[in-house]
Amino acid sequence: MGDRLSTSEGSRLQFSQDESYHPPKTPDAVVRPVSEQEISKIVSLCSRYRTPIIPFGAGTSLEGGILAIHGGVCIEMSAMNQVLRVNGEDQDVTVQAGVTRMQLNSQIRETGLFFPVDPGADATIGGMTSTRASGTNSVRYGTMRENVLNVRVVLANGKVIKTGGRARKSAAGYDLTRLFVGAEGTLGVITEVTLRLHGIPEATTVAICSFPSVRAAVSCSVSTIQYGVPVARIELIDKLQMRACNNYSFLNLPEAPTLFFEFHGSTAGVREQAETVEGIAKGLGGESFKWAEKTEERTHLWQARHDALYAALALKPGAQAWSTDVCVPVSRLAECIEDTRLDIEKSRATATIVGHVGDGNFHVIFLIDPKCPEEQKIARQINHRMISRVIAMEGTCSGEHGIGIGKKDYLDIEFGEALGIMHDLKHTLDPCNLMNPGKVLDSDYYSSQIS
Ligand SMILES: Cc1cc2nc3c(=O)[nH]c(=O)nc-3n(C[C@H](O)[C@H](O)[C@H](O)COP(=O)(O)OP(=O)(O)OC[C@H]3O[C@@H](n4cnc5c(N)ncnc54)[C@H](O)[C@@H]3O)c2cc1C
Repeated sequence: MGDRLSTSEGSRLQFSQDESYHPPKTPDAVVRPVSEQEISKIVSLCSRYRTPIIPFGAGTSLEGGILAIHGGVCIEMSAMNQVLRVNGEDQDVTVQAGVTRMQLNSQIRETGLFFPVDPGADATIGGMTSTRASGTNSVRYGTMRENVLNVRVVLANGKVIKTGGRARKSAAGYDLTRLFVGAEGTLGVITEVTLRLHGIPEATTVAICSFPSVRAAVSCSVSTIQYGVPVARIELIDKLQMRACNNYSFLNLPEAPTLFFEFHGSTAGVREQAETVEGIAKGLGGESFKWAEKTEERTHLWQARHDALYAALALKPGAQAWSTDVCVPVSRLAECIEDTRLDIEKSRATATIVGHVGDGNFHVIFLIDPKCPEEQKIARQINHRMISRVIAMEGTCSGEHGIGIGKKDYLDIEFGEALGIMHDLKHTLDPCNLMNPGKVLDSDYYSSQIS
């Protein structure tokens, strides 16, 4: 593979860390394949020599998914970056796994279609598929789970399979597509993904509104959904995060719990949607409902939302951010966020809260002094109490960031007996535990087989 295989310390360090708080772990080698066939050969060789394989997309994940905790070969996907086929009439596209979401949208813009799933970072489609990612648009357009039609995967034995076709629905057999969506590279290396696309709306309007409390803001979000307003985005930013966004993104908005909305549709339709929501917001004490119709203003506001993590970091220079992620049924969201905020304050931690509240999903961004073990301990305790609260509310320990190494302990509490079936599936597809070992599931379940 020439210079597409490297064992230099520089390359190994470059691919040893994601955007999480977990310390780096270096792989033994990094390879940059250019084809599915090459990946199949690499995986077959690794399998023969019992060497772990770690697929690497853009490295933006937040739970340590790409750390080489058992060493091994990092398969770096950036050279698999071709948009292979756009089917305008069927509104779908097939891409190589290393294509990033922004690259995809920029390459298909002229077709009048777009791909809506938008995690805050410019992640790869392979990484997003593998973490079952979502983002601000998911309340209307769904997550990766709803938008992936088919994947091509190199399995641990080097064989290549496809899991579906391009049909909009299918009742054929077990749903293997959904098995690989969210598998975090533990079942195979995804080489190609076929995705649903959506029409770029005729009109888009953005509105923001501040509220007297988080409860009022969340109630507005819940009522908006219950009224059947087909809102495209509803994002919550809490008071401290709003201060951070004002400073970092040069906004001048009230320091209060704030909802960002986006409406898609016809020109008349978006106005009607926004007016309905304005009425709901006013009824809940929402103030200064402000519309942003100009493209530059809208882009600026959404960029501010996407930059929330970096804005929070700027609140505490030198701090490390730990962004956790949970999801509850929307009816429990206000209570869950309020209890979590109270816990943060009682524990004297510094943390902001942001959320894709239309889905019941929110993140706590802890700002931790890396030299202070006490701050790390406090954050871990708050996180633990929050996840226990969420699971008691029939929610989940991860709405979108995945499990990686950070949340493995919670799968048992969330799934009980079903966790054994996950281990069995993993063992069937990867009997030597070589595909991203130690992620999602503990390695020691079938550990005797790791070299
Ligand atoms: C500022 C910021 C904001 C974010 N906001 C969001 C958000 O709103 N929503 C959200 O869901 N996430 C968010 N994230 C997290 C992150 O962007 C997502 O988890 C994303 O899906 C990771 O994609 P990636 O290409 O970076 O994958 P990586 O980090 O490289 O890998 C993630 C996992 O997928 C596996 N993997 C990667 N490529 C493949 C492949 N081809 N085949 C098999 N396995 C593979 C890896 O082994 C790893 O387990 C955010 C991150 C940051 C830094």
